[in-house]
Amino acid sequence: MEEVGTGLLDRLDAMQRVAASAPGGPLLIVAGPGTGKTRTLTHRIAYLCAEMHVFPEQCLAITFTRRAAEELRERLKALLGPVSGDVTVSTFHALALSLLREQDKSLVIAETPDAHGVTLDDLVPRLVKLLRAKPDLAHSLRNRWRWVFVDEYQDVDEDQYELLRLLVPADGNLCAIGDPDQAIYSFRGADVQYFLRFAKDFTDARLVRLTRNYRSSAPIIAAAVQAIAPTSLVPGRRLDPAKVDPEAPLIGRYAAGSAAEEAEFIARTVDELVGGVSHRSKADTRGVQSVTVSFTDVAVLYRTDAQAATIVDALQRAGIPVQKRSHDRLRDRPAVSAIAAEMRLAQGDEPNLISRMKQAAQVLAERPALDSTLSPEDLWAAVDLLTPLARRCEKAGLETFLTELATGAEVDALDPRAEAVTLLTLHAAKGLEFPVVFLAGCENGLLPLRLPGAATRLTPDEQTAAEAEERRLFFVGITRAQRRLYLTHAAKRFRYGSEREASPTPFLDTIDAGLLEWLGDTAPVRRRDQQLRLL
Ligand code: ATP
Ligand code: MG
Repeated sequence: MEEVGTGLLDRLDAMQRVAASAPGGPLLIVAGPGTGKTRTLTHRIAYLCAEMHVFPEQCLAITFTRRAAEELRERLKALLGPVSGDVTVSTFHALALSLLREQDKSLVIAETPDAHGVTLDDLVPRLVKLLRAKPDLAHSLRNRWRWVFVDEYQDVDEDQYELLRLLVPADGNLCAIGDPDQAIYSFRGADVQYFLRFAKDFTDARLVRLTRNYRSSAPIIAAAVQAIAPTSLVPGRRLDPAKVDPEAPLIGRYAAGSAAEEAEFIARTVDELVGGVSHRSKADTRGVQSVTVSFTDVAVLYRTDAQAATIVDALQRAGIPVQKRSHDRLRDRPAVSAIAAEMRLAQGDEPNLISRMKQAAQVLAERPALDSTLSPEDLWAAVDLLTPLARRCEKAGLETFLTELATGAEVDALDPRAEAVTLLTLHAAKGLEFPVVFLAGCENGLLPLRLPGAATRLTPDEQTAAEAEERRLFFVGITRAQRRLYLTHAAKRFRYGSEREASPTPFLDTIDAGLLEWLGDTAPVRRRDQQLRLL
């Protein structure tokens, strides 16, 4: 457990401390990537509880993903100890479901809008409607949670924003923390306008900015700021490196002839960084070679999942272990939802979720084949997938387990400690950090992504907005890197069924050439241009 008491805020810098110890009332923390947002948020909750006599049960912290909620819970526990369990930490979806269930115990999640309840997308709007219709209920919730915190606030949509307004009075203790320049979910209805509306709707809102980046080297931070500058939503955006390292490498740029060549470059470079896979195993047995970069330190990011296969292939051929985050929702698997339904029906030993889950699988496996399209293999595979969630929910019980499952538990094979290179889409990489990052496919039409027909489907304004969001994705990608960043692009790539020519993304144009180092022996045309200009 970390030190509680006077030292609680010692691990924060001056501005983080101002944010963490700000008095009550609306508080907006605008913080760039790597500036320690979660760190500040958890310290604020801990400080309020440990030193300002706020009861943990009066605190509600909301995040967008279950993974982020778990992370918050863990960090709070480290700071506050067991009382942190009294803080409500929830995703918007799970919060809405549990509050709706308080009113209607039989409420279930339906797979389709016409079916077995309420759909996932409908949870928050339905709660908003209920609270509007029952002001007494809204009032009692305002008393229950006197302190509300929202992480990744730039991603709120209209309903979530309305929910916050119902849960917190205009002069209430709402602390919202986020970065408008990392708003990348407008396709799901998120709207960065709600960030800008905070100061209008919440009275005398205090604004704190964090600008020291603790994550990345100076060249990476400089490139990130230059990349976002043309469409930054943060006036006077600043990001100052906390680390000063004159040895920090420049950003590598590689122009490949094709997507396959790009993938080979990535594999070759990972191999070199890690010390040579084949050499390394020999060296390891002799115990001589010191390895500075390990596979866990490396992430390959890309705009579309379609890019992954070529890269996985090249890495595997080079003998490099790979892990790829899956975005399947657990409940989307038929065997999983069958087990969940069976567990709900069966009477049993409530706290022992795991044996109850095994029983459910057993019952389903023994059903005549005609009644069930599920094979025993599917069912037992589902039991394996559900076990980590069941373990986590063992204390909280069946209802929590089913809620977690219904509100977005993912099949997430990603293990931050695994000895493997991590492959992720840019969207999935948000919030994470890696010592070495490859951003693959930095090509016009891919990043920014332009789908066929978009030009005719979207108005010019919509196209401009879409392009700005793509630039924010590029910004998110660059700012995941701690020490080494590689920006790669290919001259040819298979897309939509045929091989097409590609040119580098225009997003690269705003990055100072002095921050980039051309790698490889492909002599790209742009480079010759630059040399000519210098002459
Ligand atoms: P993002 O916008 O990408 O989600 P963030 O603002 O949430 O970034 P964090 O991930 O919380 O940033 O912090 C980035 C890194 O900086 C982490 O490794 C964190 O431990 C470290 N860090 C943050 N604040 C400090 C500090 N005051 N002293 C030392 N390290 C810090
Ligand atoms: Mg974060």
